[in-house]
Amino acid sequence: MSYSQIPKRKSTKVVSSIFMLIILLLLTCCNEVQNNSNKMDPELLNKAEQLASQFLIIDTHIDLPYRLEEEWEDISERTEKGHFDYPRAKLGGLNAAFLSIYVPAKFEGIDGGKDLAESLIRIVEEITADNHDKFRIALSVEDVRNNFNKGIISFPLGMENGTPIEGEIRNLQYFYDRGIRYIGLAHSKSNHLGDSSYDENRQWNGLSDFGENVVREMNRLGIIVDVSHLSDSTFYDVIKVSSAPVIASHSSCRYFTKGWERNMDDMMIKKLAEYGGIIMINFGSSFLDNDFRVGRAEWKKKVKKRQKKNELDEHDEKTQDYIKSTSREYKENKIYVSQLVDHIDHVVKIVGIDYVGFGSDFDGVSDLPIGLEDVTKYPNIIYELLKRNYSEEDIQKICSGNLLRVWSEVEDVSKRIQLIED
Ligand SMILES: [Zn+2]
Repeated sequence: MSYSQIPKRKSTKVVSSIFMLIILLLLTCCNEVQNNSNKMDPELLNKAEQLASQFLIIDTHIDLPYRLEEEWEDISERTEKGHFDYPRAKLGGLNAAFLSIYVPAKFEGIDGGKDLAESLIRIVEEITADNHDKFRIALSVEDVRNNFNKGIISFPLGMENGTPIEGEIRNLQYFYDRGIRYIGLAHSKSNHLGDSSYDENRQWNGLSDFGENVVREMNRLGIIVDVSHLSDSTFYDVIKVSSAPVIASHSSCRYFTKGWERNMDDMMIKKLAEYGGIIMINFGSSFLDNDFRVGRAEWKKKVKKRQKKNELDEHDEKTQDYIKSTSREYKENKIYVSQLVDHIDHVVKIVGIDYVGFGSDFDGVSDLPIGLEDVTKYPNIIYELLKRNYSEEDIQKICSGNLLRVWSEVEDVSKRIQLIED
């Protein structure tokens, strides 16, 4: 071996190593692409995307106002955080997002609930005033349809928690005039209208007398009654009292989360449908899968226990570090779009195609299935529905037709009641 050959051989070796590395990388990439294409049929995905842009898509629960109240972002542009903004909504084909005017249960019985609701409504009014070509508040089915035809995203308003009514029936007229078109009667705690599914305190064993009057006044005004978050007894009381169909704006099927009252069981779904109402499926992983929900709940207990032991605040850096390093445990249980569609399928199986829709809880839940990370992902649901041989007509019903039917009926009931009064 001559001296001059050594570097040459070395360089040949380096070149061949780099070559091998490139080959390996290419193989890995190809493999990934192959796996993806194996998972999704490109032609069917294309069809799903086409339907998402063609159909009116409504989501009945997006927690955007509260997210912006906590940390402002310009949602007319792509935002860094959150699940919703204009470019992403357009990409996903979302045309109407019921924005949640959410007032935490801690305001029950003290001043401030009505003011907070008012300030959240004002946030939406400011957004729509600044971006009239992109977003508009929708007050009726007709508004939603007109905005859709103009390519504008509708923001109907739904209130989450009846606390801001503050014991005054006339506040319902006030909030109707401010644009509220549904009210979820309670949230995490039982309140002066009725009992919550999350609260062991069942002070009314259903609706309170005042809560019954609230339901009647909502029927008269044309505000949809939302039964998500309510205890089972409160739900059955609502069904008894309401003269218009009701919605569950963001609940899933208890069939998949046995014993968890926040989701609806089969008997309730049947009752809801019997009276013309609708269940809008929550996308949160905890709502879709029991193991995920239990794993997360156990992990949360562990975080709370540690916080208490070390006398730490939930915003403390040490708590946040602990959350980051341990939350992986429960997240190992992966949830997929197909599991959301299992919930839709289940409703269809027990009551038919006319009583189900989307109530994502985007910006309100932290854990979402793979392929449902934000508002760009509605086509993935349509893809899964097509895969299961749902017809275009049925998919259109799930995307918005069912919800618009219910809302129209609520509008008609209100007109009829007010006509009799005249
Ligand atoms: Zn909620």
